[in-house]
Amino acid sequence: MPSSSATPAHPLPSYLDPQHLGPWGVYLQQIDRVTPYLGSLARWVETLKRPKRALIVDVPIEMDNGTIAHFEGYRVQHNTSRGPGKGGVRFHQDVTLSEVMALSAWMSIKNAAVNVPYGGAKGGIRVDPKKLSRGELERLTRRYTSEIGIIIGPTKDIPAPDVNTNGQVMAWMMDTYSMNVGETSTGVVTGKPIDLGGSLGRMEATGRGVFTVGVEAAKHTGMRIEGARVAVQGFGNVGGTAGRLFAEAGARVVAVQDHTGSVFNDGGLDVPALLAHVQETGGVAGFSGADKLADDEFWGVACDILIPAALEGQITEANAGRIRAKMVIEGANGPTTPEADDILQSNGVLVLPDVIANAGGVTVSYFEWVQDFTSFFWTEDEINDRLVRIMQNAFAGVWQVAQEHQVSLRTATFIVACKRILHAREMRGLYP
Ligand code: GLU
Repeated sequence: MPSSSATPAHPLPSYLDPQHLGPWGVYLQQIDRVTPYLGSLARWVETLKRPKRALIVDVPIEMDNGTIAHFEGYRVQHNTSRGPGKGGVRFHQDVTLSEVMALSAWMSIKNAAVNVPYGGAKGGIRVDPKKLSRGELERLTRRYTSEIGIIIGPTKDIPAPDVNTNGQVMAWMMDTYSMNVGETSTGVVTGKPIDLGGSLGRMEATGRGVFTVGVEAAKHTGMRIEGARVAVQGFGNVGGTAGRLFAEAGARVVAVQDHTGSVFNDGGLDVPALLAHVQETGGVAGFSGADKLADDEFWGVACDILIPAALEGQITEANAGRIRAKMVIEGANGPTTPEADDILQSNGVLVLPDVIANAGGVTVSYFEWVQDFTSFFWTEDEINDRLVRIMQNAFAGVWQVAQEHQVSLRTATFIVACKRILHAREMRGLYP
């Protein structure tokens, strides 16, 4: 019988090459690290090393000045063994196929880790949305949705917000898809505005999940949240909510960094005032209740909890050794490179990995999707209670596996998730 790791008959395309730098290469290394723990399911592990389906689309739109601009868009369905594809859509000038592939794969792991009945998918457009007018953004979103319409759907693949996309973008996606299929289809995307089949609690869900796993980890390690010093990178939906919840629990948010700069206050920033400043000005720079901090100094700030909640590849070999936090909670997807992971581990820094720490968002997306199917909507308390329970249970399971195998929480989460995915794969079998 050929083994699962048999050399493929044809050389892999360069974007599947493990040596290829970038997020997909990082993901492949993470899979290699988990493979020894998969037992007989390792036979199926190649499944996880290639996306099931990747669509590249041209997105032409008419700009306000009458010219025609073309943008490159993607939708990647990494795995659908446990259910339809699920994952966000990102609008960013640096989006690449490699990145979307990795993000889709992390969605497979994340969805399996919290045991929601989804595979993993992700989409994106290489565009700086801040340079578009509202009309241009709407035309871009609608054309992209039409182009990927051949592979998405409420039981096929369900997009959601991610970096630089929001409820308005989801409303346009839902409307475009619905117009194209000739019926109202609220369940095709999640993260929608409440009036269009959105769910209470969805906006805050990722940050609430980050906070919940932080509290659980603190219980295991004997850290007190009250008085803990917290540093946050990225103060949008995820970092802003997590920062607020930690501050409400008595922690001191001492440093915040975003794309506009870094601010510091040793006595603790006034988080509601900083959130209002960000809302007003678009970033933390210029906040009057803080000192300015050089961007690179952010990583060396004396703190107990560090929350990277912006983009991937932020904690690297270059800055991991300077991190003084006892705990890193990954609100972003893929913020830590494998080399940095090793440095943090050997310095005794506990990393709560993205694939569990930021799974609160997709968990409430799942609640939204269920509510859309039944057209019966839950209260915010019901949603938050269920979210917290799912996050606590998932974290407890991962913690136990980490102890059992004496591995990092990242590898433990991958063990739990990959076993679930590959078990489903094995039971379904190959067809045709
Ligand atoms: N973009 C979010 C994530 O990375 C949410 C995805 C979703 O709700 O489907 O987890």
